[in-house]
Amino acid sequence: MDYDIIIKNGRIIDGAGNPWYSGEIGIKDGKIAKISPEIKNDTKKVINAKGMIVCPGFIDIHSHTDYILPVSRSQESTLCQGVTTTVVGMCGDGMAPIPEGKEEEFKKVVGRIDPALTLLEYPYHTFKEYLEFNEKKRNSANLVFFIGYGNVRRIGGQGGEDRPATPEEMDTMKEYIREAMDAGAFGMSTGLIYAPQLFVSTNEIIELVKVVAEYKGLYFSHIRGEGENVTESIKEIIEIVEKSGCIGGQIAHHKIAGEKYWGKSKETIQLISKANDRGISITCDQYPYNRGMTDLMSALPPWARKGNNNNILESIKKPEIQDRIKKDVEKGIKGWENWIRDEGMENMFVASVVNDYWKDIIGKNISEITQIKGYNSDWDSYFQLLIDNELSVQITIRSMGEEDIRRILLSRYQMIGTDGAGIPAAFSSGAFHPRFFGTYPRILGKYVREEKLLTLEQAIRKMSSFPAQRLGLQDRGLVKEGNWADLVIFDPELVIDKATFEQPYQLPEGIPYVIVNGVIVVERGKKNKKSPGKVIFRPT
Ligand SMILES: [Zn+2]
Repeated sequence: MDYDIIIKNGRIIDGAGNPWYSGEIGIKDGKIAKISPEIKNDTKKVINAKGMIVCPGFIDIHSHTDYILPVSRSQESTLCQGVTTTVVGMCGDGMAPIPEGKEEEFKKVVGRIDPALTLLEYPYHTFKEYLEFNEKKRNSANLVFFIGYGNVRRIGGQGGEDRPATPEEMDTMKEYIREAMDAGAFGMSTGLIYAPQLFVSTNEIIELVKVVAEYKGLYFSHIRGEGENVTESIKEIIEIVEKSGCIGGQIAHHKIAGEKYWGKSKETIQLISKANDRGISITCDQYPYNRGMTDLMSALPPWARKGNNNNILESIKKPEIQDRIKKDVEKGIKGWENWIRDEGMENMFVASVVNDYWKDIIGKNISEITQIKGYNSDWDSYFQLLIDNELSVQITIRSMGEEDIRRILLSRYQMIGTDGAGIPAAFSSGAFHPRFFGTYPRILGKYVREEKLLTLEQAIRKMSSFPAQRLGLQDRGLVKEGNWADLVIFDPELVIDKATFEQPYQLPEGIPYVIVNGVIVVERGKKNKKSPGKVIFRPT
């Protein structure tokens, strides 16, 4: 047979932003072997893509799938959206390295995200061993790894303490970053709203990113503030990229959070453009929803999040500490993103809990919970939720305005990322964010077809060639002969997200085929059991 698959009768959108053209694609040994107006050769399989768009597989530039992989490698929710490559190790998080003797501490940290993670074994220590471990597993989609600053700080730096690192700690952290970059990481990420990462100074990050810069790696950041301080926070990432000499910085899930700050995207988009004009490469990613997702504990003032989980939990049980927290929320603390004041308890919806007593309020906001559970105030519900669930409470938080969402979406420096994770559709716990299932089809259905904000070609560029270019991947992200055959075939008239905040575990419609490394993984909209995904190493 000349080819493994030939895709016939489709409209090819190459991912570069060019208009579609008519052509046929021959796939052989995982690669796009031929593109031509007509391919007459023998083939094992023909896909008739009549009426369909054929485009590059989507690269989810910001994903937390690494938390799910130890439990399930199916990645069904993102694969069925067309995601063929997933970038993990975001927001300063990640699953490696885990030096010897630090396993228990590591499990406590990830246990706050998902208690199931504490029951598993992690048979690796270094970042290299972590990548090799993942390579041996059966992955549905390709994986790209970053090292998270939160991890590096915990194992080699000042951990939960609010102080600068000593010179010895700086050296140790740099060693861990160097080891990850040597192993094939694409860069380092930070999450500067999360404790203890939020205690770091700009200069300390610059020093650490200099190591990433030596390797021509990238710096991705959940910036320090997305509301009141969003412009200062964007100035900070620009400064970090500029002073470290790093080749590129990415603003994670760019948004304007908090109704009083809506409209600030005019300024932030300008800042990004101007940085690029003077030769500092700054890009951003975004998911198309008006709620974020985070953990409830991160709404506490920074001082209340010092130390380890036990310290924090014991401290918030004390009435005098609760009073101090309430006062600080009311008057605010300079530089701190104050969700309870800016968004309000009525906009904070519980997505997951671990204590059975609270399972009946999943999906409700904290004000509703106060009513249902009969507490005296939202504050009482807030503290009791954290205490009963030992801080393991995930929330979605309604904070964004449509005008900002649209303005950011239109920026040519913006690309698409889920900030979600690939999970099985039969996932039973919690009410996670619909972005896990709907990000890409929502852009293609709502913002392209229904609202005509973007053309199909513009939108697909933001999902494929642009993130590939950001990562330096020369052999993915474009429909081009010689590239890996990562492809999506979808119906432009039907493609749409079905997941909502109320019913988040709904697969999209109108995406019949997804192909990873030349292997069909989604057929007639359903994921099969094939796992052709590879670990991708930073190109050198
Ligand atoms: Zn984040």
